[in-house]
Amino acid sequence: MRIAFDNTYAHELQGLYAPCQPYQVAAPSLVFWNQALANELGLAVEDADIPSLPAVFSGNVLPQGATPIAQAYAGHQFGQLSPSLGDGRALLIGEVLDCQHRRRDIAFKGSGRTPFSRNGDGKAALGPMLREVLLGEAMHALSIPTTRALAVVSTGEVVYRDQVLPGAVLTRVAASHIRVGTFEYFAARGELESLKRLAAYTITRHTPQLQAPQLHWLDFLREVSQRQAALIAQWMSIGFIHGVMNTDNMTISGETIDYGPCAFMEAYDPHTVFSSIDHQGRYAFGNQPHIAQWNLARLAEALLPLSEMPPEQTLAEAEAVINSFPNMYHQQWLKNMRAKLGLSSANDEADSADEMLAQDWLELLQVNKVDFTLGWRYLADAAEGDESRLRNLFADQSALSIWLARWHARLHAEETPSATRANSMRQHNPWLIPRNHRVEEALAAAINGELAPFEKLLAALKSPYQETALYADYAEPAPEEMTMNYQTFCGT
Ligand code: AMP
Ligand code: MG
Repeated sequence: MRIAFDNTYAHELQGLYAPCQPYQVAAPSLVFWNQALANELGLAVEDADIPSLPAVFSGNVLPQGATPIAQAYAGHQFGQLSPSLGDGRALLIGEVLDCQHRRRDIAFKGSGRTPFSRNGDGKAALGPMLREVLLGEAMHALSIPTTRALAVVSTGEVVYRDQVLPGAVLTRVAASHIRVGTFEYFAARGELESLKRLAAYTITRHTPQLQAPQLHWLDFLREVSQRQAALIAQWMSIGFIHGVMNTDNMTISGETIDYGPCAFMEAYDPHTVFSSIDHQGRYAFGNQPHIAQWNLARLAEALLPLSEMPPEQTLAEAEAVINSFPNMYHQQWLKNMRAKLGLSSANDEADSADEMLAQDWLELLQVNKVDFTLGWRYLADAAEGDESRLRNLFADQSALSIWLARWHARLHAEETPSATRANSMRQHNPWLIPRNHRVEEALAAAINGELAPFEKLLAALKSPYQETALYADYAEPAPEEMTMNYQTFCGT
């Protein structure tokens, strides 16, 4: 198999990473292969290459041109700076230009110890890697920027966690793996030259409109903030809880990364937390926009040494960008809410009325413990005059009626035919999300060597807007007891 690597990070940023080889695995076997993504990347995978995929994507036989490196990064984890994290169980093996000439990283996760592994084994278990496949592909199908899985190879070895688990290596594709924490690493060490090189590289790669002669660090900060505002607003509109929004898990590209303890919300409640280690609810669903802003403030701090302005002005300008984040976020959120509510016009005068309409709807969902996904989805039926499925979800019918009357009054201000509106709403309000009980069921079977449930769920999640009897079970909410006791783990 030929991969046309073009490895700029390794070639241009020497000193900002540690070269490192993947470890050899005992008995590699291909568990998941993403042919659509391989095509998108322009990988020339012929039929004759299929038998070699396990060896290649376990790291046993690196493709020609790969330059495996462990990237250095730091990170604020639950608010505390860890000045040296880095790729402890991942390796960037190279970059390619995909069919649309976008630069994409190809990286292994679970490929053994690196100079950044500290006490970890550098390895990954099969269950969490398949979880990353399911959640990442679901997010992709929902048009949310995300890293994606190209392959999962089981290693034929076990990894030791609180249980003995089958090991695996995941191949991850990303717009890049540069994080807020990458900047923090060099800023924390006072390595100004490295910081400058990283900034120049990142700007060229992700915001080329801001390229030299000067380092437009402030515009860069603003652009990264815009991307995060758009991303988090998308998470908030589909009920996605990342679960571990540490600064090392926030990309500069604006892609969702690190599918560890993430999960989708069932009944709407902004306090929802599933991660077993998030005791204070720092990363609760409703806290995500606030945390994004907090993380961007850490990026701003890391970029300050690049400024050529007087210190006071530097601080004031950086603060102004960070303080504008709530508004950036709010604009994106309102745009998404309008689409979900079936509103097409966005005149400024209606802003506060539309916002109230959306907020009151969310409150109604919360008070009535309505499933977030189905509540929105069945609202599309109501746009066409069929309220039956929607009404079944609500205990308080009169509160629902009052809200629906307001909503209809607002809809009448637009001239969209109701069928057109309902169809458009169905494009913004998915029928299927990766329900926690279905994900767990599929993973439990896969770990026992039975891949059919994983494959069926994955196939279903690829068409989240399409209602079909075939996948009706996947649309059902989890039993309430399951959701109440559900916990997710980092998968380390
Ligand atoms: P994560 O929770 O995946 O965001 O990882 C946080 C940090 O812990 C990163 O620096 C990882 O490289 C490191 N890490 C996670 N799991 C392992 C492991 N099994 N071995 C070594 N390092 C790890
Ligand atoms: Mg991480």
